[in-house]
Amino acid sequence: MNSNETVTPQALHFVENSKSKEPAIKVGISSCLLGQNVRFNGGHSRSNYCDDTLQNHFSFETFCPEMAAGFGAPRPTLRLEGDPNAPRLAYSNKPGSNVIDEFLAPSQLYVETLDHLDGYILMKKSPSCGLSRIKVYQENGNPHTKQRSGLFTELLQKKYPYLPIEEDARLNDPALRENFILRVYAHHEFRHCVDAKLSMHALLEFHSRYKYVVMSQSQPAYKALGKLLSENRSMSIIERRDCYFSTFMEALSKPAKRRNHCNTLMHLMGYLKRHVESSIRRDILNVIEQYRRGEVNLTTPMTLLQHYLKHYGSEYVKQQRYTSPYYPSELGIRNQI
Ligand code: SF4
Repeated sequence: MNSNETVTPQALHFVENSKSKEPAIKVGISSCLLGQNVRFNGGHSRSNYCDDTLQNHFSFETFCPEMAAGFGAPRPTLRLEGDPNAPRLAYSNKPGSNVIDEFLAPSQLYVETLDHLDGYILMKKSPSCGLSRIKVYQENGNPHTKQRSGLFTELLQKKYPYLPIEEDARLNDPALRENFILRVYAHHEFRHCVDAKLSMHALLEFHSRYKYVVMSQSQPAYKALGKLLSENRSMSIIERRDCYFSTFMEALSKPAKRRNHCNTLMHLMGYLKRHVESSIRRDILNVIEQYRRGEVNLTTPMTLLQHYLKHYGSEYVKQQRYTSPYYPSELGIRNQI
């Protein structure tokens, strides 16, 4: 099949799944993670967290690039061979074989259709879906020291460089999980509140809501985004939007450090200065210090601050995504970081 041929969604092994009744956030996922029997051995790699928890909030769209390529299940295992920058896709039992063209054609077409997604969850260790650390074998049978992403993942990242992408196994890490959820919801909010009605006003409103989220993630990005919106008057709204979005998503790309959270919490404390007596502010400061030392999780100082900001904070601080996250509270992800 060449890349100009039309492939129907069915032929791409594309299925939309949702247990949610809300207008769900659409997230792509490797089919095997939702229990579809598409693995080389005819089995699956169902992820309890994705299927039982995230599926209540996300509308998952599954895709198996190897099934889409017509390789069938069960099938011999595949591996990457040759040049790590331009590998072959070979059957492990036939070193030197190459099915990369058959593999790439349907995946390339599928990737073109994904601009409605706000995230992607991938299966680890797969030469197709792996996010990183995928081995590439040399002609002598030994793997190169240089590892890379899977072939489908590479297509996805090239087309959507700011799409939140994560491997299912990494979602077991509370900090990585919190970061992925934050990125997916921020990506969704940006597309719906800024992209959908692009204007300087929409961009400023979004920035105003995410100011403390960005501060907790990266001080340089916090300064750069403020500057971008207040200066560069000759920039078109499209250029400003693109520049804002790339800097914003890059700032969110790694979990926030504990010391940055502490710094942000201290800034928020400033809103209580005039209304809350000093003994109470001292108590809150003590809890922030406990968080800094790792004795309590982020929910503890946050809940305390939220309580006082709710009563004494300005409207501006109450609408902050840092204190009133866009993602559902039942995901409870700050309980563990
Ligand atoms: S890892 Fe990717 S290619 Fe492999 S079975 Fe799962 S969805 Fe298919």
